[in-house]
Amino acid sequence: MVHAPLRPPPGAPPVRINLYSDTQTRPSAAMKDAMMSAPVGDEQHGDDPTVNALCDRMAALMGKEAAIFLPSGTMCNVIAILTHCQKGDEVVAHESSHILTSEGGTHAALTGVQIMGLPGARGMFNADQLREAIRPKTRYAPPQRLLEVEQTANIGGGCVWPIEQLNAVAQIAHEQGWATHMDGARLMNACVAAGISAAEMTASYDSVWLDFTKGLGAPLGAVLCGSSEFIGQAWRWKQRLGGSMRQAGICAAACDYALTHNIERLAEDHANAKALARGLSQIPGVVVQEPDTNLIFFDIKETGMSLDAFQTAMRAEGVMISGLGGRVRACTHLDVTAAQIEEALTIIRGVLAKG
Ligand SMILES: *Cc1c(COP(=O)(O)O)cnc(C)c1O
Repeated sequence: MVHAPLRPPPGAPPVRINLYSDTQTRPSAAMKDAMMSAPVGDEQHGDDPTVNALCDRMAALMGKEAAIFLPSGTMCNVIAILTHCQKGDEVVAHESSHILTSEGGTHAALTGVQIMGLPGARGMFNADQLREAIRPKTRYAPPQRLLEVEQTANIGGGCVWPIEQLNAVAQIAHEQGWATHMDGARLMNACVAAGISAAEMTASYDSVWLDFTKGLGAPLGAVLCGSSEFIGQAWRWKQRLGGSMRQAGICAAACDYALTHNIERLAEDHANAKALARGLSQIPGVVVQEPDTNLIFFDIKETGMSLDAFQTAMRAEGVMISGLGGRVRACTHLDVTAAQIEEALTIIRGVLAKG
């Protein structure tokens, strides 16, 4: 099995419309200008003023005491789990969660926790489902230590957890003496869609992180937030994992630019997602899940076309689109316009009609 990413085949037509992922955005000219002029220093010595300012800004935005700059969201999850848990502990999360399905088995390989995957529609579970998952506190049962939720729930369909439900499950976790962690890869999409501030959305979570490469348009970076003590411990793991950096302000400047310029506009991505879903729902044989945010999942089984054949035919038309869990996943972001959504719909209709 080849683990390296596949390069595009030679002679593949250029991608004109990229619905594959909101991770595919390119830094804008203005973002690059901000990066070029950022004051920098030695990040791991605490001397990079741009990284320090980003961390202060993020801690304030999330209503937490402190924050730490990391290269990726995956490293945020790994470090949060290493900091909250000991080997052999159990983390309770949704069965479709990124930590369970999409981190390469990292928690078996590196953190030594086991993850209990809870069922529940649209990537979410409720208080009753969580209560059923509580194990007796005996020598036989794995010690349950952490509740993890994804806001938005990616494989669930980019769904937004209602704040009451977030608070209800966190309260149960805290009553059990567990910590609570929010995978906020697309947290700002949830906040914009719900009209709720990030601090309010994350108030009952001990730790939370935001990805700057998911629709916010930065080339890399994620920030993990929590109490000063938690972030102090997280720094040890950042050092151990090789996540401590040097003149990282050049990247933090892109993240800071994204916080200022690319959050309110997420509403456009959500409107584009709704327009795409509306168009898809009119194509015979296509079953589309109503999007809450910028991810649109749809099923094409009834059309008789396989997911692979569909993706290949779309790619030949210059449209990149992904498949996840047996469905097609389309994703809107700042490099996709409303006109491109209309064009993509025309291409999808054509590809499915040809079969
Ligand atoms: C993308 C993603 C991650 C991982 O983030 P990276 O920055 O790609 O490492 C974690 N959780 C969710 C829900 C994601 O969508």
